[in-house]
Amino acid sequence: MLTEEYLQRLVDQCLPAARQGKVASYIPKLAEADGNQLGVYWMEPNGAGVGAGQWQKRVTVQSIVKVAIFLQALADCPLEQMTQKISLNATAETFNSIVDLEEKNQHRPLNPYINSGAIATLSLVQGGPGQRFQRVLELLQALTGNSRLTVEEEVYRSEKATGDRNRALAYFMRSTQILSEEVEPLLDDYFRLCSVLVDCRDLAAFAATLAKGGVDPLTGRRCASREHCRTALAVMVSCGMYGQSGDFLVRTGVPAKSGVGGGIMAAVPGRAGIGVIGPALNATGNSSGGMELLARLAQQLDLSILS
Ligand code: GLU
Repeated sequence: MLTEEYLQRLVDQCLPAARQGKVASYIPKLAEADGNQLGVYWMEPNGAGVGAGQWQKRVTVQSIVKVAIFLQALADCPLEQMTQKISLNATAETFNSIVDLEEKNQHRPLNPYINSGAIATLSLVQGGPGQRFQRVLELLQALTGNSRLTVEEEVYRSEKATGDRNRALAYFMRSTQILSEEVEPLLDDYFRLCSVLVDCRDLAAFAATLAKGGVDPLTGRRCASREHCRTALAVMVSCGMYGQSGDFLVRTGVPAKSGVGGGIMAAVPGRAGIGVIGPALNATGNSSGGMELLARLAQQLDLSILS
């Protein structure tokens, strides 16, 4: 087990990188986050863990929830049927790109971890409006081993009030028959899911569950099949870190997913789940302190799954 002192040193070394980033402001409420915050939690397959820095400070999960949406959709809809609507390939564009949808891949979102892909994936989760939110929330609670996860209402309202880019993506997808349902109720579920509060331990547990093939280390409960976890992890490798997924893979060799709230979860099969939070983001939208911390950790502990 790592020591708290070791992790704390790492946090201290990565604070200068965090200070180079900027907190997200396109969702107005996110602009209030503290850009100097940095924390990390390491969880082993038996659920034992250690945290350092401000690991208990919560942020909204944002894009990281797309992995839970994808897992729920995989449970509800065969992959072959899903890939008629959403493919599983990387994009060099931003997470909310419109040009990709119009020009590439016969109007199908390129993958489930960009906004268009996550919205389309959510439409494949069984249940009507409201029920989809509830089912994915319950899955997220199971994956994190934390049944108390809830929505931060102010971030939700802030994103709903300003989420026109996501509306544009969803209406475009309706025009191309990727979506067939009402946009607003679907987006309401999506905005709520992005606004669930998590801390570093929640993210570490989520990642540790994926690393364990779907069994939560804290509760011992199976939340997803091993095959679905492999699929979700494979897409994390190629698409989990926005336009820096390749750079991140070279630096760490580890599947990971980040969100604009500043969280990153990284799954190291057989070894650990890691949760990092640093709300200051680099130009690509990844936590700048978090990226640096994971790169150092992966190099120092030889975490790469690639060799
Ligand atoms: N809720 C955010 C959005 O839809 C999620 C984006 C992200 O974390 O990448 O814009």
